[in-house]
Amino acid sequence: MLGVDKAEATDRFSDVSSNHWAAKEISFVADKGIATGDDSGKFRPDDSLTRAQASVMMTHALNTSGLDRTTPTFKDVSRDYWAYSRIERAAEMDIFKGKNGKFHPGDNIAKAQVAAIVARAFYGEDAEHHRGDVNFSDISNSFWAKGYIATLVDNNIIRDGGSFNPNESATRAELSAYIARAMNESLQVSGKDDSHSDEASNEDVASENVLFQGTVQASTPLNVRKGPSTDYSVINTLNNGKKVDVYGTEGNWYEVRVGGKKGYVHSNYVVRADDVQADTGKAEPIYTGKVTSSKLLVRSGPASSYDKVGSFSRGDTVKVYEETNGSWVLVKYKGEWAYTHSGHLEEAGMSGKTIVIDPGHGDHDPGAQANGLVEKTINLQVGLRVEKLLKDAGVDVVMTRRNDTFVTLSGRVAIAERANADSFVSIHANAASPAAEGAETFYNNNYQARESRKLAAAIQNRLVKDTGMKYRRVADARFYVIRNTTMPSTLIELGFLTNRGDANRMKQSGYYDKAARAVYNGIKDYYSE
Ligand code: ZN
Repeated sequence: MLGVDKAEATDRFSDVSSNHWAAKEISFVADKGIATGDDSGKFRPDDSLTRAQASVMMTHALNTSGLDRTTPTFKDVSRDYWAYSRIERAAEMDIFKGKNGKFHPGDNIAKAQVAAIVARAFYGEDAEHHRGDVNFSDISNSFWAKGYIATLVDNNIIRDGGSFNPNESATRAELSAYIARAMNESLQVSGKDDSHSDEASNEDVASENVLFQGTVQASTPLNVRKGPSTDYSVINTLNNGKKVDVYGTEGNWYEVRVGGKKGYVHSNYVVRADDVQADTGKAEPIYTGKVTSSKLLVRSGPASSYDKVGSFSRGDTVKVYEETNGSWVLVKYKGEWAYTHSGHLEEAGMSGKTIVIDPGHGDHDPGAQANGLVEKTINLQVGLRVEKLLKDAGVDVVMTRRNDTFVTLSGRVAIAERANADSFVSIHANAASPAAEGAETFYNNNYQARESRKLAAAIQNRLVKDTGMKYRRVADARFYVIRNTTMPSTLIELGFLTNRGDANRMKQSGYYDKAARAVYNGIKDYYSE
């Protein structure tokens, strides 16, 4: 049977069949009036996309009107040209630039350019400098549009693997798909690429930074596979006790290099060098408790018949790793595993938690810049104030940077992982076309999806309430720092430097304090739920 929404697409345009790869997306953009078919009821999905068509679609997608200038900006786009006002608006919004006074409205647009336009419009100007990995055989790290393409991959607009063909003409269906997915999460491609071929997976060495070192712990030789699942072929094996550098994680798989080649091993069989809790295999506390009795005995086993090994005092915070044997819980006592009775432990709020605050960018990487504002400075100033507020509330705060220095994305993740943090909050500010405004907060489904989403929503609500920013969205995004941190994590975009209203709000004296208070209150709300 045909899916309902696919059948709709078929009804709408005679040349978009229900099994066209972008049928749903075309239906979406048609519903929104972003793109229409021609007079004969055809959409022409596979026709090359022209600059004029892209101007019309993008200005509609960004919800702006046409701009009727009395004097045309471009020699080759007169006032009676069918897309005149849309082209004027697109140029004004910096979506397109002309060349030598001409716009060339009928020229086709290359796939790489379309990626750049969509990434900038929906994910901000700093998309250009996005450092995420892309796994396309024909996109090198130095390619001019690599940051844009990585942004689209990270935001589930496209799936990587295989080739991108950056210089080929884009089609009408492609831009329709990008726009629809950027605007509607349910149309996005899944984050995990389960379809890519063996050739694609070891083309490009994705990450150059070692996240941590590990040791193979397996009774039989450990398989190294081409990709992060048992569906991929085995390319090598590693023996018990072998030391490996781990460059990244994909679900339960670690990315390693064997003989200079990228491969994946299952994380169950690699013990992290810095993981003192390796022997139990349980490193993540399930909650932090506060001791409510004057003396809480600690025992070597989960019953009162076991030996006493010491005691906690009232007010001590205790990380609980496992609930076992009725009310007995597994805890750490003087660096060793031990057990205590949970009847005298009260689950704590924020107090005693370890929270990583990550002010985005720094040093030679300024992030977004517009209206006299520089993102890295705002991120840091707000971050330092959040640190102070949290510390005053008894939180153990770890900062990824406390001054104008540069920390790599994997460095930021490593700081959070090493701290065994309870949560991770990355602070950013946005740039896009002038019309884009408001606060948005992102989470990622890779780890702790539910908790990350709750944390993101709690902070977003406070940003809107306390800083006066418009509510833009809480959404799933594949930013490196939230995709690779294993604790609940979120990435905040405080507002758009490129939007006059947002920028004015951020320039007001007291804004840093206000924004920091909002982030702090959001974290507090999350922990008091
Ligand atoms: Zn940023």
